[in-house]
Amino acid sequence: MNIEGVRKILSNSFGESTYSVYVPSMNQSFSFKPLSVGQRKSISKISLEYENIIEYQYLKLAIISETCLEKISIEELTDIDFVSIVASIRKNNIVEPLKLSVPCDNTDCKEKFSLLVDFDVILDRCKNYKFKTIEFEKTISDTQFKVVLSDPSIIDYLGYQNYIDVIRKDKELSEMMPPNKTKVLLYPIQFIKDIYINNELINDFKDLSFVDRIKFLDEFPSSFIYGDDNSVLSKVIENFESSRLNALFEDIVCPKCKAIQEGVLAFDNFFII
Ligand SMILES: [Zn+2]
Repeated sequence: MNIEGVRKILSNSFGESTYSVYVPSMNQSFSFKPLSVGQRKSISKISLEYENIIEYQYLKLAIISETCLEKISIEELTDIDFVSIVASIRKNNIVEPLKLSVPCDNTDCKEKFSLLVDFDVILDRCKNYKFKTIEFEKTISDTQFKVVLSDPSIIDYLGYQNYIDVIRKDKELSEMMPPNKTKVLLYPIQFIKDIYINNELINDFKDLSFVDRIKFLDEFPSSFIYGDDNSVLSKVIENFESSRLNALFEDIVCPKCKAIQEGVLAFDNFFII
């Protein structure tokens, strides 16, 4: 029996308890089975005990791969898809609404208010997200360089976050590469899908890890990748705002002083079981 046959049988045996999850970048829905008790336990455990937020994201990826009943390529999921799938998993597995107690961050107010998280708003914003593909080329000393840019895969997004995290935690590296500056400088790398030199595609770029991509790009003229204007960096900043992920979440406003509360719901923390 082939793997598809096994998946079908599994899918049938879950019957009505399966649910459908929409993946925006693929414009396609996938069938998922409910979380097991063990998976729920790992999620609560890791969210309480681990400081490392990246590890928590990898656990979510493993859960997507384990609970999706169809063939889904984790490598092809964008960061937006990831938010959408995770919001669906929360919505379809936990009956109780997510209610948060939020202390107002305006020091003159300090009101504590409760917030009911609306997962449908997140799902809707993911569904309406406009994915882009941009080409950028530049000729430097008779060599023509071209890149194709589009929304990051979740793997590349996590590779980038992990790299910045490693620098932050290492004193020596932090001195060599100030984390905030490095964060901006390396931001575009997660958006690069393909690279061409004189119209010839560099085949292996796609398969490189984030760290190897940095090393690989070091061989390119710096003004092409990191220049202040007319560079990959400036094109990415122009087309893919750094707030694109935060924009998937509602603004949380203190009911008393009307101040907008930063970071209450964000990519790293909205998935609470
Ligand atoms: Zn307030």
